[in-house]
Amino acid sequence: MLAMETIQYNLPQNRIPQAWYNIQADLPKPMAPPLHPGTHKPLGPDDLAPLFPISLILQEVSAEREIEIPGEVRQLYAQWRPSPLFRARRLEKALDTPAHIYYKYEGASPAGSHKLNTAVAQAYYNKKDGTKHLSTETGAGQWGSSLAMACSFFGLDCKVYMVRVSYDQKPYRRALMEAFGATVTASPSIETESGRAILNVHPDSNGSLGIAISEAVEVAAKDPNTKYALGSVLNHVLLHQTVIGLEAIEQMALAGDDPDIIIACAGGGSNFAGLAMPYLGRKLKGQSKARVIAVEPAACPSLTKGKFTYDFGDTGHLTPLVKMHTLGSSFMPPGIHAGGLRYHGMAPLVSHVMDLGLAEAATVQQLDAFAAGIQFARSEGIMPAPEANHAIAAAIGQALEAKAEGQQRTILFNLSGHGHFDMQSYIDYQAGKLQNYEYPAEEIAMALAGLPSVE
Ligand SMILES: *Cc1c(COP(=O)(O)O)cnc(C)c1O
Repeated sequence: MLAMETIQYNLPQNRIPQAWYNIQADLPKPMAPPLHPGTHKPLGPDDLAPLFPISLILQEVSAEREIEIPGEVRQLYAQWRPSPLFRARRLEKALDTPAHIYYKYEGASPAGSHKLNTAVAQAYYNKKDGTKHLSTETGAGQWGSSLAMACSFFGLDCKVYMVRVSYDQKPYRRALMEAFGATVTASPSIETESGRAILNVHPDSNGSLGIAISEAVEVAAKDPNTKYALGSVLNHVLLHQTVIGLEAIEQMALAGDDPDIIIACAGGGSNFAGLAMPYLGRKLKGQSKARVIAVEPAACPSLTKGKFTYDFGDTGHLTPLVKMHTLGSSFMPPGIHAGGLRYHGMAPLVSHVMDLGLAEAATVQQLDAFAAGIQFARSEGIMPAPEANHAIAAAIGQALEAKAEGQQRTILFNLSGHGHFDMQSYIDYQAGKLQNYEYPAEEIAMALAGLPSVE
């Protein structure tokens, strides 16, 4: 008989974490506070009340280390959590590398990505606090479909502003949101002042997450029964994603391996934070030496080329000012197919952790990302989301470095979602229709020149 090599390290359902992990309790220096967009004074919880339910506001500002996951949310998690941890043995062989490559697979959720981890939590707290309607933005559609699904679980209305370029590229994501009962509008739209202001100047606008956020926030701010939900960037969103890393720590122990390098792609920073923060918490206690790397597209490089400063989270300047790595809120990222990575800023918590030197950032070009995704699919059988391809490219790069140096190293990356709704981008890639984008230096310089002056 052939000896079986283990490739899955799975946990039973009762090992779904009981609490989310808040790294803010362990950081050597606190984060800079969010500021009111008008007065530039630190924000109070009341300032956020028109947009978010009180329980999420309290999580947003919490310094508690552990925040209990409500039973109802854990019960919903049980459909796809604990998510599988795989060892990519066939990819290791294809690369002929001594490295051990592991990936945490978040594409096994019914929405196909990690976004459902926070969507069900946000829908739960909104329902509990009396919200009737939720408004939100979506890039590639993963967040919109996760929130639409979560809203249908809890009987909430869901309104989604979908970035125009993705609305056109990804009709099946839109169909999925509509199947779950959500209303979907291409952004910029004529439904809001923010949308109309953009369309007046750029009638053919591709849209951006920054614009779609303005539209969704505006709708929530104007209606007392409507709250706003964000799929990334905010502290409470990153908090909900820590189930990924908490499970991974247990699963890596089952595998008898400890990661030397932890990798995730970063758009707003939530899947990166979800995997990395629990490990960084251990690093702060001297229990992990892992290098932690956030990977972003060369076309939208907020961590590697942005400024760490106060900026608006949206193009219409309706959100609070937050200190983050930003390319400027008016920056329009090129229309790369990794729609979930086209955001001008980065989560303030991820930015802060970078500033403290706890993590690193790297960039990957679009064609290298797709080549890596195809190579991964051919060995592992999973079609990755275009966003996740950035993490895969970096993981393969690390594995090849290990080979060149003739050294074992253990690599753990987050496979944030599958690409079943993104096959048009693979068709375009295989047909040679995709391109790399040079770092858009001039546009970024212009957008950075428009930063608000704070301090
Ligand atoms: C949304 C999304 C991302 C990027 O968002 P983060 O908040 O940076 O995680 C990455 N991968 C997938 C599959 C996504 O849906």
